[in-house]
Amino acid sequence: KRQEATEDVISQWRRKQKANPKANKLSKMSIPETRKTLPIYSMRAELVSAVRDNQFLVIVGETGSGKTTQIVQYMYEEGIMLRDGQEKLIGCTQPRRVAAVSVAARVAEEMGCKVGQKVGYTIRFEDMTSADTKIKYMTDGILQREALLDPAMLKYLLIMLDEAHERTIATDVLFTLLKDAASKNPSLKVIVTSATLDSEKFSHFFNDCPVIKIPGRTFPVKIDFSREPEPDYLAAALDCVMQIHVAEPDGDILVFLTGQEEIETGFDALTNRMKKLGGAVPELLIVPVYAALPSELQAKVFEPAPEGMRKVILATNIAETSITIDGVKYVVDPGFVKINAYDPKLGMDSLVVSPISQAQANQRSGRAGRTGPGKCYRLYTEAAFHNEMLPNTIPEIQRQNLSATILMLKAMGIHDLMNFGFMDPPPPQTMANALHELYTLDALDDNGYLTGIGRKMADFPMEPALAKTVLASVDHGCASEILTIVAMLSVQTVFYRPKEKQAAADQRKQRFHSIHGDHLTYLNVYRAWELSGRSSRWCKDNFIYERSMKRAYDVRGQLMAIMARFKLSVLSNDNNNTIRRAFCSGFFRNLARRDPQDGVYNTLFDQTPVHLHPSLALFGKSVEYVIYHTLLLTTKEYMHCSTAIDPRWLPELAPKFFRKSDPANLSDRQKREKIVPLFNKYAENQDAWRLSAQVEAK
Ligand code: ADP
Ligand code: MG
Repeated sequence: KRQEATEDVISQWRRKQKANPKANKLSKMSIPETRKTLPIYSMRAELVSAVRDNQFLVIVGETGSGKTTQIVQYMYEEGIMLRDGQEKLIGCTQPRRVAAVSVAARVAEEMGCKVGQKVGYTIRFEDMTSADTKIKYMTDGILQREALLDPAMLKYLLIMLDEAHERTIATDVLFTLLKDAASKNPSLKVIVTSATLDSEKFSHFFNDCPVIKIPGRTFPVKIDFSREPEPDYLAAALDCVMQIHVAEPDGDILVFLTGQEEIETGFDALTNRMKKLGGAVPELLIVPVYAALPSELQAKVFEPAPEGMRKVILATNIAETSITIDGVKYVVDPGFVKINAYDPKLGMDSLVVSPISQAQANQRSGRAGRTGPGKCYRLYTEAAFHNEMLPNTIPEIQRQNLSATILMLKAMGIHDLMNFGFMDPPPPQTMANALHELYTLDALDDNGYLTGIGRKMADFPMEPALAKTVLASVDHGCASEILTIVAMLSVQTVFYRPKEKQAAADQRKQRFHSIHGDHLTYLNVYRAWELSGRSSRWCKDNFIYERSMKRAYDVRGQLMAIMARFKLSVLSNDNNNTIRRAFCSGFFRNLARRDPQDGVYNTLFDQTPVHLHPSLALFGKSVEYVIYHTLLLTTKEYMHCSTAIDPRWLPELAPKFFRKSDPANLSDRQKREKIVPLFNKYAENQDAWRLSAQVEAK
């Protein structure tokens, strides 16, 4: 519904633009002219010769200076990729999928081709490249995966690790892998770009390579701090937008929010407020930007608003450095970002909204000063900025679960992780937890070496627990069902719930609910959609995002291709026990048990209270044991996607994690419990592999 609303707004805006072609001021400039106006243009010759003369190069420049879109084009135009009579690829990594897609689209337009021809992109489950592709944008995760098959990066002549300041795990790992590839493949060039001034560290890492600075062209930005802390940053942000709109001169507004839901809520609230005001204030064009936004809509974000209309962009962190939207004069910064954080003590990952760093705050305010003097409204106090925010963002590698990364490195034959040569090594506890997780998944053996199963798991572009589930489903003969569910889990939102029709939407959703939980509910939805002949009408009637279903269909196809490549049989078996058992083989760590007294679930791993969201299929069903897919921390820790299981399955499916208890060794209290975790057996330096739970023998 909201997506439709957005589409409505955009088509209205389109119509207006057609009626008044002069409205679009920027598009009057031709593409070659636009390219010449970018700050990086003056550095072209210097960049080209520096790349010719050096194997490694660090390039630093403000966001919007043209690094991502121009550098690879300069190198292509100079024919730098021709070597030994052979044309090789220019690759450019992006930490975010959206950026890879949007930048490829832009560069294809600048080069006068379609995406997938000379310019293409590859992101997980989506490959838009062809034999003609010369410039390939991709996520850093994709390139890391390619290193598994091609450690010397022989396909490439030049690789640009873009947005290195973001310090994603994959980029951090690629620092080391590419340094290594470059020593094996002397004709490989590596460029590292960053929007912040931490370039010395990068240069030092790459054998003290030269650093080129792109001259900035920024205007002063006036910073306005809140006088008091804001209790509700979303409400404060929307108030701030309205104030700017009525009181400040022309110029677009960029608001940083934390995620899709918040952006949609903000979108609705602003739309309503504008409606209430009627014609009293000039029109406001509200554009959302977040990762799951369909790419056609994303492209429209870049178009200038029609004359007389102010544009307000509600964006996630994407707009901080990954993409640049021209025309922004006002920035509203509530000071938060949603990150995937891993607590090494709890051994859990969850999405949390947390304060940004000072460096991020400065990046955000900088977005207001690209085309003229601007203004940034920080919705936090100056004291909070100085005392509560860290100076720099902590690299992901130091705060996220590393099991997928370590599995990949092990599959590359890198066994000695302590000496891998990380730029900033991860904390030992995080590393040990990841090793332990892989061990309990049977991906590593007692000595930490990769097992046969582990090697197969590494072939799947997904977290190890999910890869293990898929492999287990092959043995259980239910891979067809599991692939469907995995594909459904990979899309962000399936059900929509418009405000005016919540009851109807909930009622429809109920019909798909499986008594066993959300995994099987997803299976029901997908099957019903297939039965409908993948009908759009069916999606509308059932309050299901058609786009999500199509995406799940594509992802499923990609997974089928992987299965075929590795000759894994995809059989069908819709016995719900079999399907749930396959999930248990991967997600046994995410086990929670309901406390019969207060009805709250606690994780078995460490007794953290976790909650069933009212939208989940099992809500109110008093199931005793569940496994969940992920946790989402909002006001409470919520389980996202959970399924009822029988704890007696566990010792068989996860023998490294659970074992049957010997009743003789149990206390009376323990005998009353079905599962008794052996707490705290797992500690650093001491019997590091063991953390198990006992299940009463039956
Ligand atoms: P940097 O990487 O240095 O931040 P970019 O190369 O991304 O800079 O951006 C250079 C210019 O290209 C910016 O003015 C930006 O607005 C424009 N641009 C980038 N992507 C798009 C797009 N998809 N559509 C329109 N303009 C774009
Ligand atoms: Mg960039």
